[in-house]
Amino acid sequence: MNTTSDPKKPTRSVVRTRFAPSPTGYLHVGGIRTALFAWLIARQHNGQFILRIEDTDQAREVQGSAKHIQESLAWLGLDWDEGPGKDGPSDPYFQSQRLDIYKKWATKLVQEGKAYADPYTAEEVQAFREHAKANKKPFLYREHRPENPPVWDGGQPLRLKSNPKPYAWHDEVMGDMQAGAEVIDDFILMKSDGFPTYNFAHIIDDHEMGITHVIRGQEFLASVPKYLDLYETLGVPAPIFATMPHILGSDGTKKLSKRDGAKDILEYREEGYLPEAMRNFLASLGWNDGTEQEVFTTEELLEKFSLDRVQKSGARFDERRLLWLNGAHIRLLPLEKLAHIVGNKLGGASFWPPEAFDFDETYRTDVLRVVQERLKFFQELPELSKFFFVDLPVNISLIDDNKQLKKFSRSELHNMLESAKRSLEESDFTVDDLTERLNRLLEATGQKPGVLFSLIRIAVTWAPASPALADTLHVLGKEKSLNRIEACIKIL
Ligand code: GLU
Repeated sequence: MNTTSDPKKPTRSVVRTRFAPSPTGYLHVGGIRTALFAWLIARQHNGQFILRIEDTDQAREVQGSAKHIQESLAWLGLDWDEGPGKDGPSDPYFQSQRLDIYKKWATKLVQEGKAYADPYTAEEVQAFREHAKANKKPFLYREHRPENPPVWDGGQPLRLKSNPKPYAWHDEVMGDMQAGAEVIDDFILMKSDGFPTYNFAHIIDDHEMGITHVIRGQEFLASVPKYLDLYETLGVPAPIFATMPHILGSDGTKKLSKRDGAKDILEYREEGYLPEAMRNFLASLGWNDGTEQEVFTTEELLEKFSLDRVQKSGARFDERRLLWLNGAHIRLLPLEKLAHIVGNKLGGASFWPPEAFDFDETYRTDVLRVVQERLKFFQELPELSKFFFVDLPVNISLIDDNKQLKKFSRSELHNMLESAKRSLEESDFTVDDLTERLNRLLEATGQKPGVLFSLIRIAVTWAPASPALADTLHVLGKEKSLNRIEACIKIL
């Protein structure tokens, strides 16, 4: 990327982005969208995408979470160039293993008189707070900066000696930003447990790891002025900032949370969503290419994605859209690939109903060819395909409750099926011949497809819906189709 033409951006030859999750549980759509955007930017510029595990808050850490996060990224195809399992020049990529690095930087700040050990007890700080409140003033730590701070031995919190002044900066998404000196305060760099705060660690790491673009959620936007102060104090250049808009729940009012349906991204894998559909869906949460296009392959995303088309306002999470997009991506798949995915769900299991394996692969592939049109996610495959493999029990209510069919008497329906049977008996059951015969039957009986085809469909599937009728009959084959029609005639 050539950044030299834009004076606002630091000049760097290589784009390096990162995803920096804290291992505090599973990744949901909100978290992983940031990873996708950072990955897209890195890949678009032939740069590097780095995975850094921010595990400095031991109390909030959840066992197994770091592994789970890696598995989620791997499923989504967001491969990292450096990070856990991928050695790189900035090893290690777990913050808990980088404590000596933070210590080194902290010590330097102390030596330069730019940071100090916090001498106060919790009670004393509380008293400062109450005093400020009583005077209707915001509480600022820097107003209580000790004149002679104790020697920092690593056992007390270490605070930054801030430089209160207004800051202005550019955010690739949010635009030109500014903040007054009142938001600048002496924040904690190192905690008394020897671990750095997020505020300190991420800045050190982003710098040491050569990160060019910090792409992250909106919850950090208000802290950027504090970070700018620290960058200046450290004497290191600030990266390019790109703040992602919040993802809102489906009602579009509040931020999507785990509580209102933001489930583990890997659950979508279990339900049979395609990673490419998920990537498309995630990209659409806050980004579009300015056209009406909705379905994007990953190649198209790589070509078209840009931070300047990420919107500022919150993006609404609508799972029905994901479902629709997944169907669209299923239809884009070559049949062979679809057959492979359906038959080899991760872990060796498959999405087929067990009965499908009483049939050979050719037959299963034929079934897949005709249900591909209707499939929205793989977990619904058994329901959509079962009648191809087993004779489903007669469910006469499908006829009795059908809006079109219930207008007819049983004997009228009986006669319609009889004519259908007579015609189909003559068929060679190719799709063409079946299509032609079915159309001629419509003319001969004077019925609408909604009546005649529904009746035949119910008779051969006993399922509420099926692929196109001629396709269904063709795949089922002559013998099975006629037997089922015959059985229905008997019932009627
Ligand atoms: N560890 C932070 C989080 O999980 C990362 C924020 C960032 O990307 O800098 O929220």
